[in-house]
Formats: sequence, C-alpha cells, structure tokens
Amino acid sequence: MPGVYIAYPFCAQKCTFCNFASGVLPKELEPRYVQALVDELRTADWHWTPETVYLGGGTPSNLSVHNLTAILAAVPGGQWREATLEAAPGGLLKETVSGWRSVFINRISFGVQSFVDKELSKTGRKHNAAIVEHEILLLRKQGIESINVDLIAGLPGQTLESWHHSLDWIERLAVPHVSVYMLEVDDDSRLGREIVSGGTRYGAGDIPEDDRIADFYEIAVERLAKMGIPRYEISNFARPGFESIHNLKYWKREPYLGFGADGHSFDDGKRWQNPETALAYVQRIGNPAKTPADAIGEPFFLGLRLAEGIQDEASSHQQAIEQFMRDGLMEKNAGRVRLTSRGVLLSNLVFQEFVTLPDRPTGPAVRSRAGGKSNSALRVLSSG
Ligand code: SF4
Repeated sequence: MPGVYIAYPFCAQKCTFCNFASGVLPKELEPRYVQALVDELRTADWHWTPETVYLGGGTPSNLSVHNLTAILAAVPGGQWREATLEAAPGGLLKETVSGWRSVFINRISFGVQSFVDKELSKTGRKHNAAIVEHEILLLRKQGIESINVDLIAGLPGQTLESWHHSLDWIERLAVPHVSVYMLEVDDDSRLGREIVSGGTRYGAGDIPEDDRIADFYEIAVERLAKMGIPRYEISNFARPGFESIHNLKYWKREPYLGFGADGHSFDDGKRWQNPETALAYVQRIGNPAKTPADAIGEPFFLGLRLAEGIQDEASSHQQAIEQFMRDGLMEKNAGRVRLTSRGVLLSNLVFQEFVTLPDRPTGPAVRSRAGGKSNSALRVLSSG
C-alpha cells in the first residue's frame, strides 16, 4: 500500500550535527513554500489513495495548524492508517495537539536525541527531559499513543553512564517506538566544520570513539529488547504492533510519493527526486526527471535492513552471502538471510558488496544528524 512523504525544512535552530538542507530559513520563504507544496500535492498524478502520510523535515511541528490543514487537505484519503508528524520537543500546547488530531495525525516522532542536558546543549537543542515527559503526557491525554523517540549514540561528551541515563528515561516514559542512530560526523555540519578547523565548540574534541559508540548501540539493542521494544530494523525498535508502517514501505519497496524540498518518490518502477533546498523547490520549473528504479541489488540491500531479513533465493549474491556467513556477519534461518548482531554494526561494509547507492543511509550510523542526508525515500530518522 502506498505512502506519502511531505517535507517541511524550516527549523527553529540549526542543530550542530545536522547536514540537511534545513534549518533557520528566511521567514518570507515559508508562505511561498507552503503554497508550492499545496500546488504540488493538488496537481500530482494520484492513481492510488495513500494509506500513510509522513510529515518530516525540518520541523513540521512548527507548521501552524492552518497551514497543516491546507497541506493535508490536498492529500487524498484522510483518516489515513498512519499519519506521522515529526516534532521538536518544547513549547507544545494542548490546542496544537488537538489541531493535529483534527487533521488525523495519529503518530508523533519526537526528535529528543538525548535526555542529558549537557549533551543537548552542545547540539543546539533547547529542551530537557522534563519537557519531553510533560509533552508526551500531553500527547497521550489527547489520544496519541503511537510515539517515537529518536536517540543519538555518540553525541559529544556522551558516556556509558549518560547513555544508560537516556535509556532509563525511555523505560520510564514507556514509549512504544525508539530510533537509535550512531552519530557519524559530516563535514557539512557545524560540528564537522569545527572539527576540520581544529576548534572545540559544540564538543568537537569530545566525540566518543567508534568502538564506544558501537557499545552504546549494542547496549540499546539489549536494554530495549528487555523493555519489550525489540529491533525490527537496523535503527528502529518497536513494541509489536507499533512499527512505523510508513517507513517499512521504504525497506519493502512499496510505492511512495515525496513532496516538498528533497522529496523522493518511487512508483511504477521509477524513482525521482525534488530539488534539495526550499528555495530551489519554490523556484522550480517543470517536473523532476524520472529514472528506472533499480540497481539489481536494491531489494537485497533494503531487505537486509530488516530484522526479519529476506527470503533466501538462489541469486548472484550466493557467493558473497556464503563469505559473509563464514565471517559471522550473516546467518540463515528458516529460509531467510539476515544480518547477525556483528553484521548490523558492519552493515555499511556488507551493503557495499551488494549495491552502491549514493546518498542513501546504510548502517545504524547517521551522517552528521540523526538520520543522514535528507532522503525521504529511505529516510529513517525523524528530525524535529
Ligand atoms: S536536526 Fe532536525 S531540527 Fe535540527 S536543524 Fe536538522 S532538521 Fe532541523
């Protein structure tokens, strides 16, 4: 069943780890952007009704309810099976949540990243654990139970103790979905540029070693499983029944249309992509070029992200699979091939063997911000 992704790249601040084409954009650009979005949605060639809608960004929780209503009114359906909004914690009001409910938003993805003040302050985020707790309660009171919390493993200054502290908060809040991304600093981010120039701002000199970040990830896998939130995809963990229906479409190669800046689409065996920046998007002339989808290894590459793995079919990959099994990176069980725990940590290496797809998130690592380059087609991370 198809899905729709809608990008809103406007944010209240530019987070230090973020390399997306999003952030603090000129205020006068917003009405033009919203209008362009509504026009694009209204004139799209809809030959199906979406079952999921996902508003990402950027920070779509900063959209006024008026603009959000105008945007969603242009999407066929309504009362979608899953309608997710990425949200930045801080300043959430009861009236806003009730406005979200009125346009059928039923899932919130919170860009928390950490529950430790010292870590948050280095990212540029303004919230704290108490604010997150209060706002999750607010969502629940308004009937939104399907809540995701994003965490980043490897933030500057993060320690084993502070990582456990963040996981303790997950346990306390009992959210049904968690995304865990391992930080990989990108030169395009403020943090990356600081490191390149030899500076110390944003905790540039205080990023944990790769091995330590891998430890954080493994601790999260173990602790979340004990909380009843097992891993179902490299970076995603959910209580059974709370998996992201929308994001699963990317990995299962179901059709989706992406709208707004950097929106990626996949339908009828073709892929296409909108201009990356908000300005280029509002100025665009004509339609983006469509290209035939597929690198041969793509179904394999995407399916391996899932904990359930993929059906083991006789394929040209057999030799590589056998080698990865000997190396302890893959395993076969009940006719399915999947990554082992070690394979998950080294998934970038494994995926490279099967297909080279530029600009697509691979392992649990994130490039510069939790979520990698803005790629709505395969994006795995909420921003907010
Ligand atoms: S991480 Fe999210 S909130 Fe921060 S600048 Fe990037 S898109 Fe905006």
